[in-house]
Amino acid sequence: MNNIEVYNAVENGTLGIGIRVNGQATVQDLLDVWQPFCDDQSLYKQYAEGNHALCKGCQLNCCSTAYVIPDLISFKKMASSLELDYAAFIAGYFHQEKLGLGLLRLQPNPCVFLHNNICSIYTVRSLICRFYLCSHLLGDTEELIYKIAWTGAAATLVFAEEKGLIPGVVAGGLSSFDRLFVRLLEEYRSSEGVKSFMQAQDYRDVPLHYFLPTGKEVSSYANYSDQNSGSSPGKQEV
Ligand code: SF4
Ligand code: SF4
Repeated sequence: MNNIEVYNAVENGTLGIGIRVNGQATVQDLLDVWQPFCDDQSLYKQYAEGNHALCKGCQLNCCSTAYVIPDLISFKKMASSLELDYAAFIAGYFHQEKLGLGLLRLQPNPCVFLHNNICSIYTVRSLICRFYLCSHLLGDTEELIYKIAWTGAAATLVFAEEKGLIPGVVAGGLSSFDRLFVRLLEEYRSSEGVKSFMQAQDYRDVPLHYFLPTGKEVSSYANYSDQNSGSSPGKQEV
């Protein structure tokens, strides 16, 4: 049996995609089952042209308006692929106004890496870019992917602060959306998941159990029905 299974179920009257974690899975295992959704033209995608398209090269691209704070693993991989040290990478590719506020947001509108409607760093794009899908996800699954992505983003901020690459988050000048991100990042900053991202070389080094609901066996995750907070912020229009 695979560590992660994909299933469909109806939730609140809508058919959605869910995942079931069966064993000692890692973030890489989840990415391996997730990429086929991006590549699946038969899947209903709300914002795709005709509602059916590959994500790569999508003409109505979520990358045009995304708010992306890369997770730490992708942050390092992006800098490496560009052959830049971290300071030069931050100076060249991140939103300068947000940097001054202590937030590492990729230059947006459209994303600095979007060239001719295609991500120019597709293989090293960040978790929020890999996980965002304009298809209906079951609540538990949506909660899981955003928790992983925001933990990874919090790790990037902690890493950058420790290296003196950005100031700590400052209180003034934040938009309401910035404040939402700051609150989420602060929530995850001290978590075990952030420590795991800090130590990891790759996604296979980050176990999924850090992100599953506390006190639940991983095999019962799919049936977990505690407070589902509905849609989460992430790679979406801002
Ligand atoms: S998730 Fe983004 S790239 Fe994929 S179809 Fe939707 S809008 Fe296009
Ligand atoms: S990094 Fe790539 S996938 Fe992510 S928003 Fe930018 S262009 Fe899109």
